[in-house]
Amino acid sequence: MLSPALNRLTDRGIGNLAALLEERMRGVDDLYIEEPGGRSFTYDEAWRLAGRLANALKASGVRTGDRVAVQVEKSPEAVLLFFATARLGAVYLPLNTAYTFTELEYFLADAEPAVVVTRPETEAQAAALAQRLGATVTLTLGQSGDGTLMERASIDSDEFQSPALVWDDLAAILYTSGTTGRSKGAMLTHGNLASNALTLADTWRYTRDDVLIHALPVYHTHGLFTATNTLTLAGGRMLWLSKFDADDILRLMPRATSLMGVPTFYTRLLDHPGLTRAVTAHMRLFISGSAPLLAETHRAFEERTGHAILERYGMTETSMNTSNPYNGRRIAGTVGLPLEDVDLRIADPATGAALPQGEIGVIELRGPNVCAGYWRNPEKTAESFRSDGFFITGDLGMIDHNGYVSIAGRGKDLIITGGLNVYPKEVEAEIDALPGVVETAVIGLPHRDFGEAVTAVVVRAADATIDEPAILAALTPRLAKFKLPKRVIFLDDLPRNAMGKVQKAKLRESYAKLYS
Ligand code: AMP
Repeated sequence: MLSPALNRLTDRGIGNLAALLEERMRGVDDLYIEEPGGRSFTYDEAWRLAGRLANALKASGVRTGDRVAVQVEKSPEAVLLFFATARLGAVYLPLNTAYTFTELEYFLADAEPAVVVTRPETEAQAAALAQRLGATVTLTLGQSGDGTLMERASIDSDEFQSPALVWDDLAAILYTSGTTGRSKGAMLTHGNLASNALTLADTWRYTRDDVLIHALPVYHTHGLFTATNTLTLAGGRMLWLSKFDADDILRLMPRATSLMGVPTFYTRLLDHPGLTRAVTAHMRLFISGSAPLLAETHRAFEERTGHAILERYGMTETSMNTSNPYNGRRIAGTVGLPLEDVDLRIADPATGAALPQGEIGVIELRGPNVCAGYWRNPEKTAESFRSDGFFITGDLGMIDHNGYVSIAGRGKDLIITGGLNVYPKEVEAEIDALPGVVETAVIGLPHRDFGEAVTAVVVRAADATIDEPAILAALTPRLAKFKLPKRVIFLDDLPRNAMGKVQKAKLRESYAKLYS
């Protein structure tokens, strides 16, 4: 499904992401990526380096449609390697650097890449594994642009002629974080990525005057596509940080205009005394996503800086789906309105029938951003789409009377206790609102009588004494009895993955025997 924007590009002879990038990058002398205190690249330099990388991949045997698996530290070259892969018509497969060799083995066996690009320090092990699984070539890329891939690229031409490609060609496979079962490879096309980046640049008003602080990892859709593609197509500049560091970010804010982050970026910035109105005065937009932003964080940030964080909702399979408005009310605790080219509906999880406004159900989506399905997994692909083309996200949510969407949690986190549904978010919000509570995760644990027992895992403020009886006493007049936690567990921190998502599956595993 193509968006009107892509159709207009096609009419101008631009029929794939590589051609669109060429239009925006080639011959442009504006600064593109700057590593503070380090290297910098103009758009044209970046385009030419991507050309060298495309030639190097081709010389290493990569052909149109082949996968290129990449497990490297964050660097500008890692992103240019994605552009190079797109220019070749090959498929970029980024992998979290935290994955072990056992995990890597699964991805390489599933994706069968032609080439594996790894860190210089893991070359020998990765090469042995890759060869065993049929990938003949292993190249290395270091964080400062070192390694065998770059050596190879330095002798190649910076001119590269792309084969004929169309919007429906595959550009990337991104494996979902796989909190339940095996991780699946979402197949994203040139059209998926281009349409979403163009829509976001427009929705969030990015232009060539923007300077984005880029502190997200680039193996995940947020840092790789939402941040990088959007800024690139808008012609803005990126201040490139290898990771989140509150001191670095606050130092850069006076010369930046925007930050994209996960909620933990904002809670950590709030913990820093250097976050003030003055230091954020030059910024025009703070965006949050990938995990729920607590309404409390939203309010505290606005009070401290005068900026209302713009929360949006997306996922690996679809890139971005909804956003709070640029102009208009950014409502804490909601993820805003569907993007202009995205159809969103709330459906009954069992039947797929559309539910009336105000009811909680599964969020389903249709639009040019929605992936082409799961790599070599026709069953999962078939299960994930309705017959009218809507993609079943697995997220539960509702739409309020103003059209704003709120997320009630992942479908698999829904608790069924004594046959009744409990949406964890509702209980979490009640506990979070109590004095002395920092945050809460509500999970269902196996229970002989109830099937699942509602259980709260709570993080208390350092000096707080609130305990289980106090929490239950506060909740009793506010929630139906079946929603009350049977037990409250206190922890210093909730387990989170690199994108700041609370790992409820881990909690369920740790406390599986609590009621037995
Ligand atoms: P990932 O594929 O790793 O990007 O994870 C996508 C999932 O993160 C979505 O399906 C949601 O469950 C969750 N998510 C993303 N953005 C938000 C948000 N703003 N609020 C709540 N959950 C979110």
